[in-house]
Amino acid sequence: MGYKLNRRDINNIFEDLSKEYVIYAPKLFEGEGTYSDTNRIRYGEVKTIDDIVFDKKAEYSHKEVLLPISQTLFFFTEDSIKEADTPKKGAIIFLRSCDLHGVKRIDDIYLKNGQEDYYYQRLRENTKFILMGCENSFENCFCVSMGTNKNDEYDAYIKVTGNDVYIDAKNEEINELFNTCEKSEIEPDFVTNNNVKVSIPENLSLDVMKSEMWKDYSSRCIACGRCNFVCPTCTCFTMQDIFYTDNGKAGERRRVWAACHIDGFTNMAGGHSFRLDKGQRMRFKVLHKVYDYKKKWGYHMCVGCGRCDDICPEYISFSNCINKLKDGMKEVSTNE
Ligand code: SF4
Ligand code: SF4
Repeated sequence: MGYKLNRRDINNIFEDLSKEYVIYAPKLFEGEGTYSDTNRIRYGEVKTIDDIVFDKKAEYSHKEVLLPISQTLFFFTEDSIKEADTPKKGAIIFLRSCDLHGVKRIDDIYLKNGQEDYYYQRLRENTKFILMGCENSFENCFCVSMGTNKNDEYDAYIKVTGNDVYIDAKNEEINELFNTCEKSEIEPDFVTNNNVKVSIPENLSLDVMKSEMWKDYSSRCIACGRCNFVCPTCTCFTMQDIFYTDNGKAGERRRVWAACHIDGFTNMAGGHSFRLDKGQRMRFKVLHKVYDYKKKWGYHMCVGCGRCDDICPEYISFSNCINKLKDGMKEVSTNE
């Protein structure tokens, strides 16, 4: 059902919603950019519609709401364990079409991959998604090539034009909040063209691992992991047991983000480690995102948000790398 209201009315609805939910959306963090005197747009709690940044891409994705950077799972002493409490409030997340496709990927990994992850599931079941449209493509986006530029699996869609706010509510609970507002049909804005286009070769196979193309990345990548951390579909974590200093036998277990580009990610007991070479880490990530994930789930893991290209301090472009796969396949077949 579609509605039209104004900023004051939507802020009243935000106030009602905030009794049961924490509302997360892209917002401005002034002075917190990478360079001095620069700002950062990333996810944070918002109280009013004016706090939300609609016209810029968030550097980090929404995933930190569902998969916190550091999440305590349980507390322990010598002889007891206490599970960490479930957050008292649910979450409402404002996000774009590509990121909503990203949620589907995280659901695959954490809910449908043989078992349900309890800690993810308890956050996920109390989360609602509000779609923000894209009137224009942002820099480095290639969602159209990845087929993630459109999405109708939202709980509500929002469009803000001046003082007017348009809502398309699909979720019943959200719909009820608006049913005294003026009715007005609204269709989501989706981009249908990006400047960046990628093409994944039809004949792509693991043979491409033998290509020389990966060597470029061995010297250029500095293994900072920024590309992984901003990615809405990178979901790896490591476990840490933190022992309290006043009682060394008590503490808590946390899971903390980890990433395939970072040194130590593949360390094993006994000191063995896979993929010491950074080009091989790039190869692993790229083929996971646009090759082997599709074999299991029927669609690619990468949703084409372009954040990895936006953030890399070495100007390594993931989309360029995808477009090099065709030549990589040719090179391997010529050599064989
Ligand atoms: S690999 Fe890059 S473009 Fe693809 S979803 Fe992750 S951050 Fe976005
Ligand atoms: S952001 Fe760039 S330099 Fe950092 S790990 Fe990723 S590819 Fe390497």
